[in-house]
Amino acid sequence: MRTPLVMGNWKLNGTKASVKSLIEGLEAAADAATNVEVAVCPPAIFMEQVANLTANNSIKFGAQDVSTHIDGAYTGETSPVMVKEFGATYSLVGHSERRQYHNETNEVVAAKFVAIQAHGLVPVLCIGETLEERESNVTSQVVETQLKAVIDVAGINAFENCVIAYEPIWAIGTGKVATSAQAQEVHAHIRNWLKAQSEVVAEKVQILYGGSVKAASAKELFAQADIDGGLVGGAALIITEFVGIIEGAK
Ligand code: PEP
Repeated sequence: MRTPLVMGNWKLNGTKASVKSLIEGLEAAADAATNVEVAVCPPAIFMEQVANLTANNSIKFGAQDVSTHIDGAYTGETSPVMVKEFGATYSLVGHSERRQYHNETNEVVAAKFVAIQAHGLVPVLCIGETLEERESNVTSQVVETQLKAVIDVAGINAFENCVIAYEPIWAIGTGKVATSAQAQEVHAHIRNWLKAQSEVVAEKVQILYGGSVKAASAKELFAQADIDGGLVGGAALIITEFVGIIEGAK
């Protein structure tokens, strides 16, 4: 049985005051949801504040991105070692906004995945198709290619200790949530595709859905056999919405 995971991706949002009120507003719901893992991914500059605010509750946290480099002359980067030192559990990798605005190719994503695991963090590998790709009926090939690029470098067994987030790009931040049937179809495809390489990995790996998840849509999405929780952007910044999404995963 896989434990559901609900993870908030705060993207480039927050102030010291909003970080405090968000975590304080979430902690009771997160602690009460004993069968749900709850995590947030703040901007790196808020990581120490989030580490302090989550020291005595069950909320975990992660980075939104890390460098493949550990230290050195790489201005503006954050290394996985630094993230680990602050007590993070996770790092997102390959979010579509990184792929789109920072030209992160499947090869870069694979290198980051390896660096994240090598330094004791759990990668949350984001994959998903554009609207054009969906309309051309190549969704399966797109997600397979994105997964294969990482497996080729890290090996299939590396997926025993990672999370996959299926995020159709056309649903991210657009308000267009995939139907539960559309999402389940791709999640089942991902799990079956992994099963052909390792049954153990396929059974164990949490596959989250991401793309305009709201409290109102969470329960039905998370009730699908292969949807193990959600990666949540906009709604993760609204306490009542995010608490409703956690409730939907119970
Ligand atoms: C995301 O950023 O990963 C995401 C799913 O965003 P939203 O929920 O706003 O679509």
